[in-house]
Amino acid sequence: MTNILVTGGAGYIGSHACKALKQAGYTPVTYDNLVTGWEDAVKFGPFERGDLSDRARLDEVFAKYKPAAVMHFAALSQVGEAMSEPGRYWRNNVCGSLTLIEAACAAGCLNFVFSSTCATYGEHDNVVLDENTPQEPLNAYGASKRAVENILRDFGAAYGLNAVIFRYFNVAGADPEAEVGEHHRPETHLIPVMLEAIDGKRPALTIYGTDYDTPDGTCIRDYVHVCDLVDAHVLGLKWLEEGKESRVFNLGTGSGFSVREVIDASRAVTNREVPYSEGPRRGGDATKLVSGSVRAEKELGWSPDRSKMDQMIADAWRWHQTGHYEK
Ligand code: UDP
Repeated sequence: MTNILVTGGAGYIGSHACKALKQAGYTPVTYDNLVTGWEDAVKFGPFERGDLSDRARLDEVFAKYKPAAVMHFAALSQVGEAMSEPGRYWRNNVCGSLTLIEAACAAGCLNFVFSSTCATYGEHDNVVLDENTPQEPLNAYGASKRAVENILRDFGAAYGLNAVIFRYFNVAGADPEAEVGEHHRPETHLIPVMLEAIDGKRPALTIYGTDYDTPDGTCIRDYVHVCDLVDAHVLGLKWLEEGKESRVFNLGTGSGFSVREVIDASRAVTNREVPYSEGPRRGGDATKLVSGSVRAEKELGWSPDRSKMDQMIADAWRWHQTGHYEK
């Protein structure tokens, strides 16, 4: 079996990637410091606890498993936190990734799949974004991810590191079998926050801004089912295994949903009222982030078939009702 080192494999997207890798015949080796991840989420392969900044520990793990590739998910990923604590974002996301990339190159592990983000693009006046849209991030989260993309390019030129970089739009939903799902503490993402509000686990959802230049005044995002997203990673891994060139792919669906539309869809799927109030804008939020998925569909053969809003909410709701990992 081929080992794949999955950093952040105990987190939301990483744990779904581990399941997809196992189903595709690989052995996912999770490397995670459990700061935001959950040991209970590591269900599909071995677990090695460690920090991205710990080069000796990384060297040990590379030597033990001799992975054929790295999938690098481990990162801090909240826009609000990145605005108030930028140092943590630069240190963890950039310095940590640099240490990991150096360890991978030193171990001769030259295939690398990286989780980047549409937050690297910033604000672009309501255009549908593609991979050539200029990257002008509005916050330290996006800036830290753009920096890692640049590091990967430089290491590609110097050491032959091959990278597939995925720029995610808004990831949502959960494993339909509810073995893993989204579980952040604290939770800040729209859909899980809304489901917690519906279920009385928090008082109400606050809509962050109703005066944006959009039809209903709330921000528009492009939501992708987490299972579609991780399928793209397996395709990206195969791309690298076939010796193809380093490449950037946006992972979006081409359609956007406003915050109010997501609330309406949740009411319909759960058949429950969504308690919410209207609040001021959150710093660092772009008005609209919507991507085409033309390149990923054409070149990788990716099709985001499960990324329907109703299905994403239904899968997230099913997972929500399992009570997560706290049981
Ligand atoms: N949002 C909101 N209330 C919340 C959480 C999010 O109105 O409690 C909005 C947020 O301003 C953005 C959208 O929902 O327009 C998606 O935010 P999320 O934090 O889920 O993802 P992001 O777009 O920051 O990656």
